Amino acid sequence: MKRQRLDQLLSNLGYCSRSQVRDWLRQGRVEVQGVSARNPADKVLPDTVRVDGEPLDHPDGLSVIFHKPVGYVCSHKELGRTIYELLPARWAVRKPPLSSVGRLDKDTSGLLLLTDDGQLLHRLTSPRQHIPKVYEVILAEPLRGDEAARFAAGTLLLEGEERPCLPAELEVLGPQHVRLALHEGRYHQVRRMFAAVGNHVTALHRAAIGRLRLGELAPGAYRELTPADLQLAL
Ligand code: URA
Repeated sequence: MKRQRLDQLLSNLGYCSRSQVRDWLRQGRVEVQGVSARNPADKVLPDTVRVDGEPLDHPDGLSVIFHKPVGYVCSHKELGRTIYELLPARWAVRKPPLSSVGRLDKDTSGLLLLTDDGQLLHRLTSPRQHIPKVYEVILAEPLRGDEAARFAAGTLLLEGEERPCLPAELEVLGPQHVRLALHEGRYHQVRRMFAAVGNHVTALHRAAIGRLRLGELAPGAYRELTPADLQLAL
């Protein structure tokens, strides 16, 4: 852990703006090594800082596993309720930002990984890694029977695209219920793949990334990502 300016550290972790830090110090809310801090420009080791008596919130980086409920968007830039409303408020303004590994659209639920680690984000999203993202899908119409072969062929074209989808594995769970493993992440890919074979997705849930599953996490709940989770996801 390296030393950082106190005002920069607190604003990057989303506590308050750099200009507000002075007020916080005057109010005695910030301690460094057990002593009330005075100077916002002091270079401090993050693990020696307390705010309102509490250690700093993930000063070395943050990665979480989150069960996204239906009805929330993943990005600040989209309209509507965002997943950040379901997370601690300061996480929405951290720098570097907490980004999602492969977004889920508003009407999709399931496993979402959020991280501020750019390298990890790249490893988890790079198509070269071929990490499967597994979706459970409910369809409006019964399957015709040729979908698994069409998805596996690697020739399926999505509307408006010239490059076919990579081969994907379809497992039939019922006449209108399937599990689909994708090795890439295009915009609304699952919905568009089923549209390309004449069907319509009525419910979509991401069940796994690699071998990492949601487990017991309830919709809207989250927990810190452990090294064991990461091994399963990569
Ligand atoms: N495919 C979709 O259509 N939507 C998602 O959210 C994820 C994959």
